[in-house]
Amino acid sequence: METFIDRLRIVRERIAAAAQRAHRDPATIRLVGVTKAQPVEAIRTALDAGLCEIGENRVQEAEAKMTALEAERYRLTWHLIGHLQTNKAKKAATLFDMVHSVDSLRLAQAINRYAAEVRRDPGRRLPILLQVNVSGEATKSGFDLYGWETQPDVYERFCADVEQILALPHLDVRGLMTIAPWAPDPEAARPVFRATRRLRDALAQRFPIAPWRDLSMGMTDDFEVAIEEGATIVRIGRAIFGER
Ligand SMILES: *Cc1c(COP(=O)(O)O)cnc(C)c1O
Repeated sequence: METFIDRLRIVRERIAAAAQRAHRDPATIRLVGVTKAQPVEAIRTALDAGLCEIGENRVQEAEAKMTALEAERYRLTWHLIGHLQTNKAKKAATLFDMVHSVDSLRLAQAINRYAAEVRRDPGRRLPILLQVNVSGEATKSGFDLYGWETQPDVYERFCADVEQILALPHLDVRGLMTIAPWAPDPEAARPVFRATRRLRDALAQRFPIAPWRDLSMGMTDDFEVAIEEGATIVRIGRAIFGER
């Protein structure tokens, strides 16, 4: 039977192969293990195998796991990858090391306010990514950037928000996050990842004050395509932890 270690090794090999195809250094791609709907034991197993970056999509569920794993806090990096409501911004700013799912100016302002109050290390800004939706799929959250390359008003509206977010003193904007629409063929995700990367490149030109280094994109069904298109962080659940 395939063990956890086997599945993790296979995923790492697939990441390395995809990176090589794109002439990229595999060491520049961070693997976040997504443990939503998995028990705390799964996270312990991951830690023992050297997978220390953990992604959760709900604040409440993550908080319970963090409490159970308090003794391992120094080894773990917690990523919030799911939609965040403004009323949970305080908790998120307290608990997480990185928030991938910042999808509105209002939410960024709320996280900034609480990050100032509650961060254990108040001198350090909270790393965030801006979640964008370039595909227009209605069920996905994110800043609406559908058609941004042909509709200047769509891009300009976003840039106005970005400008304000970059001015928030307690946030460290690292880049973009996206979720491609699900499709049986991972190739269907390629245009979405490519458009997200082009958006990142445009922002880097327009706002050189931020690094815009990170692209969080790619999940179990499409992470290799995402890496070929420039992902620096992949968020993988089922391929590592099994079906939920
Ligand atoms: C669940 C989830 C993932 C991981 O999905 P898998 O298909 O299990 O790899 C990645 N990103 C987000 C935002 C998720 O909610």
